[in-house]
Amino acid sequence: MPSCFATQVPHLLELAPEELARWFQQQGQPSYRAGQLWHWVFRHRAESFQQMSNLPRQLRQKLQQHFRLWSTRRLAHQQAPDGTEKLLLELADGHAVECVLLRQGERRRTVCISTQVGCAMGCVFCASGLDGVVRNLTRGEILEQVLQLQRLLSPEERLSHVVVMGMGEPLANLKELIPALDLLTSPQGLGLSHRRVTISTVGLPSGIRRLAELDRPYHLAVSLHAPTDALRTQLVPVNRTVGIEAVLEAVDFYFEKTGRRVTFEYVLLGGVNDSPQAARELGRLLRRRRPLVNLIPYNPVEGLPYQEPDAARVRRFVQELKHQGVEVQLRRRKGAQIDAACGQLRRRQATSAKG
Ligand code: SF4
Repeated sequence: MPSCFATQVPHLLELAPEELARWFQQQGQPSYRAGQLWHWVFRHRAESFQQMSNLPRQLRQKLQQHFRLWSTRRLAHQQAPDGTEKLLLELADGHAVECVLLRQGERRRTVCISTQVGCAMGCVFCASGLDGVVRNLTRGEILEQVLQLQRLLSPEERLSHVVVMGMGEPLANLKELIPALDLLTSPQGLGLSHRRVTISTVGLPSGIRRLAELDRPYHLAVSLHAPTDALRTQLVPVNRTVGIEAVLEAVDFYFEKTGRRVTFEYVLLGGVNDSPQAARELGRLLRRRRPLVNLIPYNPVEGLPYQEPDAARVRRFVQELKHQGVEVQLRRRKGAQIDAACGQLRRRQATSAKG
């Protein structure tokens, strides 16, 4: 069902910086106008062209006629007591995506963004993959999630980190993702350090190699979730055709090519992949790579049979990995009071719309 703004003028954020510069040139405007415009969008958090007071009035009117600043509409906004906020955004074609703002301590403000509508990877514990993938997001739709979340911050707060860990497989949409991240990290965008941007993949070897070839200094996180092919294929069906060995070979290639260490993500599902034996096998698999493993206790999803792991088992899992010389981080669950796990809010909204 297309929404009412589907037929409007082009979305400003879809333009590459050089396209915008060309547009200003065609309007007889000096080249610094593009920088002024991006400054309003990314730094001053402008909501409309009219607010851009150092642009001539006529130019603002032209911008208004030729472009729209926003292509999404907020369908839902959830807030948790720990400061986590989640948005469900309606896209111009009526589909919806989720994105999350996480607050950690005084300064760390992280946005978690999506790259696809739905996901083709079908991880059995994830709400995003339940209905497959619909389409890739465009660069403008990826950027707009960041801007929508940025506008939830108080004037004193600054966005500090971006994680591409929401709905979808980022390496299946590098074509749109990389230009979006490049603008965010450029001085014209938010000027974020590349090291504060993490791309999280389920582990597509071809995508990992391509990212290595692109040689962007973003941080890469690979989701393993299991130490053996048998268990991983049960949890991450795409593993059937890929296999852990091929994922790790691609990770080694990435390290050789870029010199950057990869993080491994592991969602702990109660009674499924959280045994001491699984920890020992994971340690044996990874230890020669001097890995950092992020352990993420599962956030239960309504309608799915997986449980949060027992705290004592989590502690034991951590100990076993450390014993093998693996560096481990246990991620605190943020936003447990809202549908903060990937895809839950979108699914809930879709279900209530049908019902
Ligand atoms: S966990 Fe990530 S890769 Fe797996 S289905 Fe969900 S969104 Fe896709």
